Amino acid sequence: MRGLTMDYQLTVPAILRRTEALFASRPVVSRRPDHSLHRATYGACLRRARRLAVALERLGVEPGDRVATLCWNHHRHLEAYFAIPMMGAVLHTLNLRLHPDELGYIAAHAGDGVILVDRSLLMLLEQFRARARFREVIVIGDDEATPVGTHNYERLLAGSDESAFRGRDIDEHAAAAMCYTSGTTGRPKGVLYSHRALALHSMATAMADGFALREADVVLAVVPMFHANAWGLPFTAALVGAGLVFPGEHPDPRSLLELCQTEGVTFSAGVPTVWLGVLEELDAAPGKYDLSRLHTIVIGGAAAPESLMLGLEERHGLRPLTSWGMTELAPVGTLGRLCAEVDAPEAGGHHFIRMKQGRPGAWLELRLRNQTGEVPWDGVTMGELEIRGAYVAAAYYRPEEEGGWFTEDGWFRTGDIASIDPFGYLEIRDRTKDLIKSGGEWISSVALEGALMSHPAVAEAAVVAVPHPRWLERPVAAVVLREGRTVSPLELRAHLGTRFPEWWLPDYVVFLPAIPRTSTGKFLKSALRDSLRDHFPPTHSP
Ligand code: AMP
Repeated sequence: MRGLTMDYQLTVPAILRRTEALFASRPVVSRRPDHSLHRATYGACLRRARRLAVALERLGVEPGDRVATLCWNHHRHLEAYFAIPMMGAVLHTLNLRLHPDELGYIAAHAGDGVILVDRSLLMLLEQFRARARFREVIVIGDDEATPVGTHNYERLLAGSDESAFRGRDIDEHAAAAMCYTSGTTGRPKGVLYSHRALALHSMATAMADGFALREADVVLAVVPMFHANAWGLPFTAALVGAGLVFPGEHPDPRSLLELCQTEGVTFSAGVPTVWLGVLEELDAAPGKYDLSRLHTIVIGGAAAPESLMLGLEERHGLRPLTSWGMTELAPVGTLGRLCAEVDAPEAGGHHFIRMKQGRPGAWLELRLRNQTGEVPWDGVTMGELEIRGAYVAAAYYRPEEEGGWFTEDGWFRTGDIASIDPFGYLEIRDRTKDLIKSGGEWISSVALEGALMSHPAVAEAAVVAVPHPRWLERPVAAVVLREGRTVSPLELRAHLGTRFPEWWLPDYVVFLPAIPRTSTGKFLKSALRDSLRDHFPPTHSP
């Protein structure tokens, strides 16, 4: 017997109808490029989002079309976050930290027809525009002037009639947004989020044992809107009515702390590198910033160092929480809140548990598997982490490229090696992915190795991560030279510099007679990593 409940579609427009009906006056604050503050409300953003939707329709955007953004975190980017899914199109955020060649590949692969770009990022766009197929370019900024052949965002909005917006019925399974994730072979893979996934993710992360967000909160969105949808914060905040604060082009520690103080921020989230900078600033100026309203800081995207957690907590009275997630989720997977059994005063051991990545959010299930099958949740045995749930990717865009990340029984293989304790706390121990995460962004070791080996003096090259105090991981290259050839580390860096962004280049190049190999002839990266770690202790700083 079927239940007799309405088939109410869980969509982004459904979130936004609630926002407009109940939270229209809640603040949306952005730092402009000149450091001044732009103050708006959800109501104003939504009115402008409707105008943007009308303008995009006039430019030929139809349901299902991908609309790219190349923007920092600010209110106009939020308007795009709202407008594009609202009209049934797909919001595709491009990561401005990527190399132009990669951006070109991604935009072409996704089939982006229109792009919204910050004026300050126009130079970057010019470097990959020829590879992509944008019909229309919309330039965002306070400036009136725009380059020939582009549209001015503000003028487009001024010329659009909000009342011409006709909301369509959107199927909750339709795509609302899209992000690309770094591929282990260097080829990024597209993740398409359904409206339903974003709605359920917003609800799950807002829960009391999640981010615990409510209307009275003010959220500082430090985590970039161009990486995994700013961890869903724009939609989660809109669902509960929490105010939103965006640092714009200035996500530096001082600027973030000033915003926390002046805007009464209660919640923020970002990668460890950001919080390491914030901790340094707090240590340098104790008592300078009033952070009394800040109840939660979420640290995720990479393992939070213990010194960071303790420093924020013990020296500055802040409450950091660890979190693990992935672009392939929407993206928050687990959160390190203490469960009742662990939180009891007599339980002790808080600290140890809080260093773990936490327990899964609602509508997510975890399991660990190794060669022998599923492994127990004993906190010791390790296995590859697999996940399934209501906001986990079921396939990549163009599934033929998915490369075995989905199991036959419908779970997603994360490529992370972990253990889970009897309370359900996940602990990430290692990863099978041949990637390096530096400052929260990925570097493909495989891509660097390929490029190094294309140099005429290089016979073999392996790139591994070594720990770094600020970026957490940095690449170091081990190179075997061809007989009779020489090349300097500087020359190799210059060789790589033509293909990769500066921050991808290995901090060091080490010349070896041979690279350690497994019995099957593959590079034994774990041995290499261990030996290089001794050479480059966590305090190394090139
Ligand atoms: P991304 O898709 O860029 O968000 O990267 C997801 C990957 O980042 C995960 O599969 C992990 O390898 C890593 N990661 C994310 N959060 C954490 C964390 N809290 N601790 C350790 N690794 C993490």
